[in-house]
Amino acid sequence: MVLAFVLAGASPLEAYLKLGFAQDPDQVLRWGGGPIRYFVGDRDLPGVSGEAFRQAVGRAFASWEAVPTATATFTEVGFTGLSPLSEDGVTTVGFEDVFDFDDRVLAVTSLLTRTGSGEIIEADIAFNAAVAWSTDGQSGFDVEAIALHEIGHLLGLGHSAIGETELRPTGGRRVIASGTAMFPIAFSSGSIEGRRLHADDRAGVSDLYPTPEFQQATGSISGRVQKGGASVVGAHVVAFNMQTETLVGNFSIGSEGRFVVAGLPPGPYLLRVEPLDDADPDSFFQDSDTVDVDFRVGFASQIVTVRAGADAVADLEVVSK
Ligand SMILES: [Zn+2]
Repeated sequence: MVLAFVLAGASPLEAYLKLGFAQDPDQVLRWGGGPIRYFVGDRDLPGVSGEAFRQAVGRAFASWEAVPTATATFTEVGFTGLSPLSEDGVTTVGFEDVFDFDDRVLAVTSLLTRTGSGEIIEADIAFNAAVAWSTDGQSGFDVEAIALHEIGHLLGLGHSAIGETELRPTGGRRVIASGTAMFPIAFSSGSIEGRRLHADDRAGVSDLYPTPEFQQATGSISGRVQKGGASVVGAHVVAFNMQTETLVGNFSIGSEGRFVVAGLPPGPYLLRVEPLDDADPDSFFQDSDTVDVDFRVGFASQIVTVRAGADAVADLEVVSK
């Protein structure tokens, strides 16, 4: 099952990479100040009442709001009969019958942004009403887990590649492990594994909506990914904190193959670079044909020490498969 998102407006969300970096640096998608007000669709589906849906969605919003180093807050206004996918200036989370997408899509998030600034002014999350849902961890896709992922998009986050899949004999991929809520493929029906945020998600939302403490308390690792002297675009760079055993990642972008992994608590990091081959590159990049997946997994030649408020430089050299 594939999760997708769409963006109403000129700038494709796929072009946006989390942690505040965009292919167009003027198009960082972000809400202005103050709580984000949202309505909840009032429909009852088999197995999921409107009230159970409201509560599950509320728990997902609360998980993002509970990140101590981020300032994003939410206010539920109440139920609405409005369609989640109408451009009406009202942020709505609800079920939708008409899906113009692949029928494997579980939910989509659309963002309306102010032209030029990238400020988000409306976001809607539509759950595919044709899919079997549940809110209690029984059979059916878990509303809370999928809401958690989609709310990440609502906040302006793109997909993260920290996860592991295997090919199904019948086609498609099955998630074996995910180290981030923003991995683009959902856990199987009946799983509630996707209900929690991970270090990568917390780093992403904190980089977009930082508290002053976050900026003072964390650092970053940046550099270039190269192969035989040429820049590598779309390499997935993951920083593994050897003390907390958490993962935070990002991609190399631009003609120089530059990457920045931000929001890292001080400490020693193992830096791994891998090709984006565990999901479709076009789940991450609008312009996915520029993504280079022809290289072997590699590591920085030494442990990278991150200090608070500072950037540590680590260039990475990879070799062809
Ligand atoms: Zn998604």
